[in-house]
Order: sequence, then structure tokens, then C-alpha cells
Amino acid sequence: MNAPPVQQLRETLAALHAELVRYELVTWTSGNISARVPGANLMVIKPSGIDYSDLTPASMVVCNLDGELVEGDHAPSSDAAAHGYVYREMIHVGGVVHTHSTYATAWSARAEAIPCVLTAQADEFGGEIPVGPFALIGGDAIGKAIVDTLSQHRSPAVLMRNHGVFTIGRDARAAVKAAVMCEDVARTVHLARVLGEPLAIDPADVDALYERYQSVYGQP
Ligand SMILES: [Zn+2]
Repeated sequence: MNAPPVQQLRETLAALHAELVRYELVTWTSGNISARVPGANLMVIKPSGIDYSDLTPASMVVCNLDGELVEGDHAPSSDAAAHGYVYREMIHVGGVVHTHSTYATAWSARAEAIPCVLTAQADEFGGEIPVGPFALIGGDAIGKAIVDTLSQHRSPAVLMRNHGVFTIGRDARAAVKAAVMCEDVARTVHLARVLGEPLAIDPADVDALYERYQSVYGQP
């Protein structure tokens, strides 16, 4: 299969940003998705400060992996440098998502990792959903924090302390799936804790669930 050209990635990203709205992961103009342009040191990313209802394939922008605008009519997302840092350091990553989704961000405000107490969490995240350090926007601080934390976990999602969620995937759609699942897990584990103390899943069972889901689940 040929690598997706920029125009195809623009269309994919416009459609995926609508999914963030549909799953209620974003408010106002917060949140963003990017996709690596295969074979080039480039990414396609959401423009800064544009209403979700106004996002189109044409409004997406192309940046280099330092987060600088290469092609497009708008300024790139203010998180572009963080996305670019992830692509520079994690060559297997083809998509990055950032949201302030409510329940996951509530865990991040307490700097508490989400313990692995659901089989669906073991499937998708392979264990706890970790917390990354506090980092101010600008420069490489957020990108470095994302990479440092995710490099030590199987989870494709990290809860950045006092901020929100960053997820990675082999492509943008996989990163969006991780963002949707992260919020779902954060909500359910929160509710479980309100009712009592959630029960941990044996690490060997977490491994077995993760292995099965990552290798054989779904359509062949
Ligand atoms: Zn943010």
C-alpha cells in the first residue's frame, strides 16, 4: 500500500476531529490531532483556535517536526511542537491526539495513574494509564515528558499532570481510538472508586489480555 499523501491525511484528520466532538472529548477549540506524513519529516495537524465546525481538509496545516508551518493558511496548533517531538523520538508513531477530556483530566489533576482494573483497559493499554510530569507549553518540555513517560509503559495514553491526555498510535485513527478508550476507562474506574475499592487484575492476566487483543482480536 502506498503511503497516504498529504491531501488524504488532510481529509482523514478533518473527519477524525469530528469524532472528538462526537465522543465529547473536547470543548470550544481545545484538543488536536496530527498525522505523520510517511517518508517525510512532516506532519499534518489542526490549525490553532478554529471552531470544530469550521474545520475542513483545507484548513489543516502541514508542519515540520519542529512544529513550524510549512504549508497552510492558518497558524498551527499551539501543541505542534509537542506532536513533532513525539514523531522525532518515536519512529513507530504515525498519529498523536491531545484532549482535555473530562474524566481523564480529572485523574491528571490529582497526578494519579489509572490502575488496571478493567479487562478493556488491559486490552488497549496493557496496564495502568500513567501520569506524566507537569510541563509548560512551549519548547520541548511537553513532548519530552510524553516520550519519557510512554517509553516506560505499554499504554498509548499518558495523563499529563494538571493538563490532559496525549495519546499515540500507528496512525491518527489508532491514536483517536486510544483517546476515546482512555476517557471511557477514566470514567468507569472513577465510578468504581465512588462505589468502593476497585479490584486489581493479576499482572499475568493483564499480560494475557493485552497479548490476545494486540495480536488476534478483530477481523483477520
Ligand atoms: Zn492542552
